[in-house]
Amino acid sequence: MLNRARMPDRSLRFGLLLRLGPILAVLFALDAIACYFTSLYFANAVYDRWMIDDTRSLAQAVRTENGRTVFDLPAAGLQVFQFDSVDKNYIRVTSASQGLLAGERNLPNGPPVALGKVGIAYATVNGERVRIAGTRIAPTPNDTVTLEVAETLKKRSTLATEILLGMIAPQITLLAIAMLLTWIGVARGLKPLTDLATEIESRDQDNLAPVLHNGLYRETRVLVSRINELLGRLGEALRAQKRFVADAAHQLRTPLAAVMLHAERAERAADKATEQDALRALHRSVERAARLSQQLLALARAEPGATSTAELKPVELGALARRVGEEWIPRALQLDVDFGLVVPDEPVLATGDERLLTELLSNLIDNAFRYGGPSGHVTVTVEASPVPRISVQDDGPGIPAEERQRIFERFYRMPGSGGEGCGLGLAIVQEIATLHQSTVEISSGPDDRGSRFTVSFRRPA
Ligand code: ADP
Repeated sequence: MLNRARMPDRSLRFGLLLRLGPILAVLFALDAIACYFTSLYFANAVYDRWMIDDTRSLAQAVRTENGRTVFDLPAAGLQVFQFDSVDKNYIRVTSASQGLLAGERNLPNGPPVALGKVGIAYATVNGERVRIAGTRIAPTPNDTVTLEVAETLKKRSTLATEILLGMIAPQITLLAIAMLLTWIGVARGLKPLTDLATEIESRDQDNLAPVLHNGLYRETRVLVSRINELLGRLGEALRAQKRFVADAAHQLRTPLAAVMLHAERAERAADKATEQDALRALHRSVERAARLSQQLLALARAEPGATSTAELKPVELGALARRVGEEWIPRALQLDVDFGLVVPDEPVLATGDERLLTELLSNLIDNAFRYGGPSGHVTVTVEASPVPRISVQDDGPGIPAEERQRIFERFYRMPGSGGEGCGLGLAIVQEIATLHQSTVEISSGPDDRGSRFTVSFRRPA
């Protein structure tokens, strides 16, 4: 169960908008600034052209009379030039030889211009910024006249602001539509995920069937594949666990029933000898139950679901064989088995879990001792090539070819097998080998006698 209280309960949609919103707002502000300056540029271009035309029109009124330069524009005409309901307009006509011919004397100087050319610049009149355009003509070879027209900037900024406002309204709409589309789009994009969540939520706990990929995007398909892989592994672990519990319950029933039987027999025994006999049988049954539970646990540890608990690291097989071999010496002496170990001088490395490999080797040696028969020969051999491998050989009755597959099955015992076995030893060996991606082969010993179990490992990377 997820701990909802600790998780921030923010939706992906909201999160996306929260990230996208400020970015869009900044872009919008930058766009508005750019838009304002572009509008201003064009407003300036239009009004500047008019002012330049004005200077040229004024130049038409400059004439020469008896060698003198005159500016021949009646006051009414000048008023028309200067009329403007929004901005203040100024003009100045100055002759180089005769000084001011018309207009404001105190107008600041316009841009320096060459004869016949026009120029335009910013200036300040009575504390107000103006645009000032000027041109210079030569009515006579001895005189030049400068004509200047100035105008305050109100119209220009009003026009730029109006253009800006005209553009901002659709942009705000656009921004709102973009946010709305993001909101809807994210919801649509997430639908496969919400469907997936609903599907998983509505399942009962035993349903570990793969989730369907229908209509999912590539990115979500990867997620679904991983979930399905996990479900697969979970299913496998669950099946293994169920099988283990069923096996354990079933297999322990017999020895436990025997324990109860012998205990009752001991209780009811009429004489000491019967009681002793019942107690000995009880002891054997308890031993059997203990061995069985120990083997069941070993099997559970080696099962595929337990892979994550295995600690795979480099293991020196020679040292492992020596250590495990030593533990079996007392038993070999007890059974009068000729127990030998053949280990090369150089280290033989394999990748594995030392504890599980000890279990594997112990099971093989145990079988060789039990089925090889008393006074037999058992040899553990470690080899480095062609691959790191370890083998256990005995000179007992051997295993017929048709049984070599079946003896690895759980609880399978070859017909006629004596002793206390429960058919789990080789199943454990097989599981441990599989977990190590190694193989177990059975062959016959020299002269077709006995059996040889060889476990071949992969070389450590
Ligand atoms: P258990 O030994 O408890 O019966 P195992 O899984 O270890 O279970 O072995 C399964 C069967 O394989 C045994 O019952 C036995 O018949 C046979 N077997 C195992 N090892 C040998 C061996 N070294 N020689 C002959 N038969 C063997």
